[in-house]
Amino acid sequence: MSTSLELFEKAKKLVPGGVHSPVRSFKGLHRGPIFFERGEEAYLYDVEGKSYIDFCMSFGPLLLGHTNKKVHATLIEALKRGWSFGAAEPYSLELADYLLSRLPFLEQIRFMNSGTEAVMTALRLARGFTGRDKIIKFNGCYHGHTDSMLIKAGSGLAAEPSASSAGVPAGIAQDTIVLELDSDQEIEQAFARYGREIAAVIVEPLPANNGLLLQRKEFLQLLRKITKAHDALLIFDEVISGFRVAFGGMAALTGITPDIVTYGKVIGGGLPVGAVAGPKHIMEKLAPIGPVYQAGTLSANPLAMAGGLATLKELTPTSYETLEQNTQAIKEIFDDWFARYENGRFAHCNLIHFGSLFWIVPKIQNKSKEAGVIRKLSDIPSSLSDSFKVLFEVLLNKGIYLAPNAYEVGFVSLAHDAKVQQELKTRLWS
Ligand SMILES: *Cc1c(COP(=O)(O)O)cnc(C)c1O
Repeated sequence: MSTSLELFEKAKKLVPGGVHSPVRSFKGLHRGPIFFERGEEAYLYDVEGKSYIDFCMSFGPLLLGHTNKKVHATLIEALKRGWSFGAAEPYSLELADYLLSRLPFLEQIRFMNSGTEAVMTALRLARGFTGRDKIIKFNGCYHGHTDSMLIKAGSGLAAEPSASSAGVPAGIAQDTIVLELDSDQEIEQAFARYGREIAAVIVEPLPANNGLLLQRKEFLQLLRKITKAHDALLIFDEVISGFRVAFGGMAALTGITPDIVTYGKVIGGGLPVGAVAGPKHIMEKLAPIGPVYQAGTLSANPLAMAGGLATLKELTPTSYETLEQNTQAIKEIFDDWFARYENGRFAHCNLIHFGSLFWIVPKIQNKSKEAGVIRKLSDIPSSLSDSFKVLFEVLLNKGIYLAPNAYEVGFVSLAHDAKVQQELKTRLWS
């Protein structure tokens, strides 16, 4: 078997940068990517046979852990029936029914293949429904890689937004307004100025793609209120938070009902599924009965539907308590290690968590009333990347795998149980 290093050399010849998604490349870290061969419960195994406690969990989808036995058995059954029909089938209805009967704020859902596709559809749907073009997004939220979301803020509301990626036309950047999170004033000003042109506000109600930027509930309530007042739609992008922080995601936790919700990640349990959901009068604007076009050759393919449903069926209210207990225990293990390991070498580190998500970030000394709370990009300590680089390497050598970037959060699963927690302690102190 080749080593990770050999595979990376080969990969770089075959694939741009050697990877199929940029964050996998370990860019800015001490070494090239590890190539993994298989996963089992809370563990990943690399091609050289080394095991890692996995806190990336495929960036979120694997809420039950790797190769969960029940999901595995369901997938084997589904495979026997065929893995794509490109036609109407009953399997997606089982998943749709299961979800919608448990999420009373939603009436209809459409399945697609990724979170990016879900966001792309949600934006087109919002524009088609309102007949308006502008979308408000927030600096520090990630919504996949559709053109109109790859936009960075100009400085101040008056500045022209610009693309954060080459290849995004200026004409598209023009219709995206980028605001700071946690600023009541910016959102009020934006609506005062562009109110009648704004189709939707899109937000990660629990921003978890640039660290974990916990929002005030009042801020999310303001977004609900101000969109309603201007006949604009509110889109909750729950691709990370959906089915993870609660079955009904942040919409259920906050009691705030968005007009459109996007799902991804956990909804497919590690198979490619994305979804857009909302009330009937909005969802029925989609083709074939509505004027907003959307389609997909592999959408709702029976294998992905079966994998998603088998995963979601394992999630009971107790699961969410267990996930939080696992996360709390892991936090305590890390906190103790940060404080005491090698004379406090990592004593500057702090683990922030919400539900089963966590983020390790340098402590901030701050005397304000919300001391140390990080709600927006500009609150993030500038030492983050340097600090992470060292920590990541030390943990990796001990067989503990974090997502390979300082701004990515950690994901805890139901497989991170007491036994794994004990093993984490052993590995940290080894
Ligand atoms: C991951 C993510 C996306 C993109 O989903 P993909 O399946 O990677 O295309 C969109 N929005 C949020 C909030 C995400 O976390």
